[in-house]
Amino acid sequence: MINISETEANAVSDHLQTTRIEFDDQYVEKGSSGMMIMNKMPCHFLNENKCRIYEHRFSGCKEFPALHLPNFTERLFTTFMHYERCPIIFNVVEELKKELSFMKG
Ligand code: SF4
Repeated sequence: MINISETEANAVSDHLQTTRIEFDDQYVEKGSSGMMIMNKMPCHFLNENKCRIYEHRFSGCKEFPALHLPNFTERLFTTFMHYERCPIIFNVVEELKKELSFMKG
């Protein structure tokens, strides 16, 4: 899941020249703990296979699949959950499969 921080939501809503309320209504799903995630797959910001907010994309997108964090193998399910979110993520997963010699079972 791609989490969205308050800072990122503010930056993207400014970039899109929309209010935070409109941004949240249109693009965000909020959890009970206040956690925010994008509410649609494929991503709202995908336009002709390109990210239309690339310069302002969320840290979860920049860091995907977060190989710098521990316990990657325990996060495989969530990694593959994003497969259809956008081609950038799809391509990262495909490259990862090649690197790891991932084979169909
Ligand atoms: S990188 Fe992909 S998932 Fe992230 S905001 Fe852009 S289009 Fe959406």
